[in-house]
Amino acid sequence: MIKRILLLLLFPTLLFAQQKDTTAIRYSKNISKEDLKGNLTIIASDDFEGRETGEEGQKMAADFISSLFRSYGIPPYKDATYYQSYPLNVVSPLSTTIVTNGKKCNQKIDFYNFPGQTEQRIEKKNVLFLGYGIEEKNYDDYKGVDVKNKVVMILSGEPYSKDSISLITGKKSFSLWSTYYKVKPEKAKEKGVKALLIIVDDVAKDVEQKKHRLESPSLKLDLDKTEMPIIYISKEMACKILNVDNIEKIRPKQKPVKLDVKTELSIEIKNSIQKNSSENVLAYIEGSDLKSEVIIISAHYDHLGKEGNIVYNGADDDGSGTVAVMELAKTFAKAKKEGHGPRRSILCMTVSGEEKGLLGSSYYAENPVFPLANTVCDLNIDMIGRLDEKHENNANYIYLIGSDKLSSQLHSISENANKTYTNLELDYTYNDVKDKNRFYYRSDHYNFAKKGIPVIFYFNGVHADYHKPTDDIEKINFEKMVKITKLVFFTAWELANRNERIVVDSNKK
Ligand SMILES: [Zn+2]
Repeated sequence: MIKRILLLLLFPTLLFAQQKDTTAIRYSKNISKEDLKGNLTIIASDDFEGRETGEEGQKMAADFISSLFRSYGIPPYKDATYYQSYPLNVVSPLSTTIVTNGKKCNQKIDFYNFPGQTEQRIEKKNVLFLGYGIEEKNYDDYKGVDVKNKVVMILSGEPYSKDSISLITGKKSFSLWSTYYKVKPEKAKEKGVKALLIIVDDVAKDVEQKKHRLESPSLKLDLDKTEMPIIYISKEMACKILNVDNIEKIRPKQKPVKLDVKTELSIEIKNSIQKNSSENVLAYIEGSDLKSEVIIISAHYDHLGKEGNIVYNGADDDGSGTVAVMELAKTFAKAKKEGHGPRRSILCMTVSGEEKGLLGSSYYAENPVFPLANTVCDLNIDMIGRLDEKHENNANYIYLIGSDKLSSQLHSISENANKTYTNLELDYTYNDVKDKNRFYYRSDHYNFAKKGIPVIFYFNGVHADYHKPTDDIEKINFEKMVKITKLVFFTAWELANRNERIVVDSNKK
């Protein structure tokens, strides 16, 4: 063992270095700062109005991307089109009426809920309050609590809400704030919860902060007839429902709470639905002898749109990934034209709907143009043009997420490509399943990972301008972008040209 370690220390190159592919190096030089900057200047301009899914700016971006794919000499993947269109349901917020014990509560004062919830009316004579603040060791006390068909009320707030989450999910591990929005409601729904009421500290403050989302319509691929409403309520409203004068009286400290409270409650949700559509834009570079196998390189080109005259330009999110994918399409197309095309096919995929809930990639994964069984992996690029706080003074890094989760070979190919060609610091902080940000679940690659397809997510981390109108091109570091785009290129080159398709052999959640 010791000897091996010594050998590893003395001759790391023996173990890790891979022979340099001079053809790959030659084509990697095609990836240029000028191209990336030129394209991003257009994608992230005010003219594109923040590229909100279904809106004019997104359509303009789709048109721009596909016209460049054409100019690179990439033929349309079918019927003269680069588009994969998909239908959208635009669910506008109308009103939610809640009456508790004969008293009407006021939307946006006593409670708020996000648009997109299914129209429905719920009448109940009791509410199940599950509290928070219990110690995890008391978790077992919650075993066997039946939440099916009940209106469940819980307290929000880290870290204590984890136990109420645990109860609903049936797992102990969901202790994370971000699961609050994604995983928990899904699991609650799975368990048959009729409606979830979440007690928040300050409704007015939330309503102000989340104004944009509360007032914008929600976009959905499918309408779910049985969707469980999630409603955020004030402490005062919770007191009314629970018939207590002070929530602190029932705020549990040590013991788990399961109060089945008799109370009259009615919830009525109304909305209106319009039909719209959006587009994924695909550049298919057909491979040679192994062309039926496909390597996907993806990024989302949509962003948050605008608010009045203020445009959310999304230069980093994800203009940076979009132009990187375009540059990779150009590079692989050029190599092919000159007789060095990939053996496996490369599908450069820019998707929309990401900011609305990973819609475009979800549609593709459910309606794949090329069979998923032949899809080798997805290399997804989402935000590669900026530095985060941790790396303020070090542009030579990138977070990699997911590379080892499904295929150990994908992970080592990625590592080798970096050691051989790009020498970036690969930061795996967010690859840790325990990391509270849960980025693995938060971009388009996840829709492929869910289907058992190995993925790598390339990500620079968040920064002060994340999801703000100030995510502008002036702040983009193009040298860094070139380097990361090259890492993706060398990784894809190896994946496309090696003899054996990578094997799915790990199952790390
Ligand atoms: Zn993004």
